[in-house]
Amino acid sequence: MSTNQFVTSKPKLSIIQLPDQGMTKKDFIDDFKQYYIHLLGRDERCRSPFYAGEALSLAIRDRLMERWKITHHTYKNNDCKRVFYLSMEFLMGRTLSNAMLNLGVSDVATQAMYDLGIDIEELIDSEPDAGLGNGGLGRLAACFIDSCATLQLPAIGYGLRYEYGMFTQTISNGEQLEKPDHWLRHGNVWEIERLEYSHRIKFGGYSRIQEDASGRQQFCWMDTHDVLAVPFDTPVPGYRNGTVNSLRLWKAVATEEFNFDEFNAGDYPEAVAAKTTAENITMVLYPNDANENGKELRLRQQYFLASASLQDVTTHWASLHGEDFCHFAEKSCFQLNDTHPCIAIAELMRLLMDVHSLTWDAAWAITRSTMAYTNHTLLPEALEKWPVKMMQRLLPRLMDIIFEINARFLTEVSMRWPGDSERLRRMSIIEEGPQQQVRMAYLAIVGSFSVNGVAALHSRLLQQDLFRDFHELWPHKFNNKTNGVTPRRWLAACNPELASLLTETIGDSWITDLSQLKKLEPYAEDAQFRQRWRDLKKAAKQRLIDFKKQQHNIDLNVDALFDVQVKRIHEYKRQLLNVLHVIYLYNRIKKGDTENWLARCVLIGGKAAPGYRMAKKIIKLIKNVAQVINSDPEIGAKLALIFLPDYRVSAMEKICPGADLSEQISTAGKEASGTGNMKFMMNGALTIGTLDGANIEIREEVGDENFFLFGLTEEQIATRRDHYDPVAIINQDDELQQVIYLLESGHFNQFEPGIFDDILVSIKSPHDPWMTIADFRSFVDAQKRVEDAYQDKDRWTKMSILNCANSGKFSTDRTITEYNRDIWKLKPQPVKPK
Ligand SMILES: *Cc1c(COP(=O)(O)O)cnc(C)c1O
Repeated sequence: MSTNQFVTSKPKLSIIQLPDQGMTKKDFIDDFKQYYIHLLGRDERCRSPFYAGEALSLAIRDRLMERWKITHHTYKNNDCKRVFYLSMEFLMGRTLSNAMLNLGVSDVATQAMYDLGIDIEELIDSEPDAGLGNGGLGRLAACFIDSCATLQLPAIGYGLRYEYGMFTQTISNGEQLEKPDHWLRHGNVWEIERLEYSHRIKFGGYSRIQEDASGRQQFCWMDTHDVLAVPFDTPVPGYRNGTVNSLRLWKAVATEEFNFDEFNAGDYPEAVAAKTTAENITMVLYPNDANENGKELRLRQQYFLASASLQDVTTHWASLHGEDFCHFAEKSCFQLNDTHPCIAIAELMRLLMDVHSLTWDAAWAITRSTMAYTNHTLLPEALEKWPVKMMQRLLPRLMDIIFEINARFLTEVSMRWPGDSERLRRMSIIEEGPQQQVRMAYLAIVGSFSVNGVAALHSRLLQQDLFRDFHELWPHKFNNKTNGVTPRRWLAACNPELASLLTETIGDSWITDLSQLKKLEPYAEDAQFRQRWRDLKKAAKQRLIDFKKQQHNIDLNVDALFDVQVKRIHEYKRQLLNVLHVIYLYNRIKKGDTENWLARCVLIGGKAAPGYRMAKKIIKLIKNVAQVINSDPEIGAKLALIFLPDYRVSAMEKICPGADLSEQISTAGKEASGTGNMKFMMNGALTIGTLDGANIEIREEVGDENFFLFGLTEEQIATRRDHYDPVAIINQDDELQQVIYLLESGHFNQFEPGIFDDILVSIKSPHDPWMTIADFRSFVDAQKRVEDAYQDKDRWTKMSILNCANSGKFSTDRTITEYNRDIWKLKPQPVKPK
């Protein structure tokens, strides 16, 4: 038998006609029973929501299969250009409800389950989240592939199939505990393993030059320790259009030969240990958002993703076109989600030269016209650098290539700016110093034809500050693509009641053309419509209270203002500023300053990176302040502070419909875009925010009168920084002084002396990078404007309607249309159902 026993030379298999599964209620009931009773072997009388969910998922998956195959053949037959979206993270969340929505079978499936006496919500809620990401960056990748499928663009998502996703967060004694998230424990019905498309990934060894028979110099990478990359494919259905794209996630598996050598040497335990080392590569997601730590395993993960994905693309190309790569660049584009997969630039050079025998110049021309890089952060601590030593040891051939890319690049720079050695030092891909490092962002810029930021302000700052030299050299490479979120998951699926009202009012075209929401604007003046809008928001708040009650035993007041900040815990996102405001409100109640008081419920949620001490302290502070406030009878219903544990995609689907106020309060110039802000806006929450990231564009769309702006601008932050004196600001503001006094006197940590000292030191420091104190008064004033607006019900409801009506820009359908127009240039490929 040949090495690849799975692939037949003639496509005989495609002749097999599968019955097209029916879409009636009876069809679903029949299939559900078949799977539940026969395949899963469960008892009809003793129902488990989890297995019932699996049975329904299998029935839904069947209906995706034929469409998946037809989509694949359509792309193949049309020989169309494709985009490959490379991302270390895909924060997919749950699949079932989204698949039903996009297939157009939500109602019929709900009815079918109802007839069987099953509440479909229970099944939906029993599915574990696919939490293969940290936050915004990973969720963006998930929204992007949804929009690509809906726009019928031939796109493949490439990522890693981590055995353990983002950790589960629990809180004990006010502190975050991390529990491993073994999301695959019960299997995953949505993925299909495709052993036949496995690839071999090299690590270690050494590289050297050999002459082949014709005297040509050939690079060899030898004595490597190889690992197999095995793909698992998940279907990505477009919205009711027959398209089903793929998300291909790689799993690391030990090669047989590797173990075999060790067995021969008689080292059985070493062989098993080596297997574990190989398989460790995709064992766990690194739980750090916006900061890097130079761990070798992380570099292994990055190369594993890049090499597996590029081999997949280039071997597929060679299987169709042989070694002729002349037209490869016309038919392929790689979008790199941050620098994490950017080693792909050197890897494509290696594959084209060492495997497919192209010259440097030919390979470089292809690389530079197929790679596109998206930057996600301006924070210096988040810019990836890898020690040259580590790369030489782990990826020697890749390091050779990076040195060569750099040498040629620096020649280009010195021709443009002769004699400017300072500039050469600044722009070099290799940072000199006690230990040489590879600046991955610079490699990304040099090796790609497009560099984009993720919101207008962010892209401008990239060009003016972080990548200024590169922008001067290649202004045409730089562009902006403001982020978005998919309106299928973040409105249609997560808020079906609001979705029905929208469809009843303006038709259903908003689901694939979110700018249609603009048609809602006149209804802001319709009192009857406003009443319905209010009723829906109240029902969504009640559902959020019920969701909360499952874990917590606290009763929230549905008429209070629901003031929500959910996102990763990070100093730049300034959860501390939110807490200072809560303490300020608490202090006012204690002083009796409560005339015209508005009841407020402040909800904060988010995970801290396990090694980020300050972020963990912030969680502890929130919990301690909550403890004091929520148990004080004098405070009563006037104010509540709740920490929402284990913030994740499925939690956000319950949280964003029930929010009145969305907190987007980062230090200006620090949040690249934000996408939580967009989910809240779509669901009719009003934003209190700084002029940062996409907040600026949200305010532009909705109008200043429907947005609560506060805080210093990015320019003001930059100029104030030199003479920032938070202690002086505190001394001049009585109320702020009282807030700081409560903290310093240990009011919230009576039996835990000193635990918040480092927080106090950081916010009182003239070097506080986040300048929390500088924005306190402005934030409090904006919160007063929020209260005034909320107390005028009609005014608030109008503003809420207008926020939803003007959220059209923030659909990833718009974002992806721009990526395609400016960068990818793919033709949509409509899929004709049989
Ligand atoms: C949308 C989303 C984020 C991003 O939120 P930001 O407020 O933009 O930081 C993070 N995590 C989850 C689970 C999300 O759904």
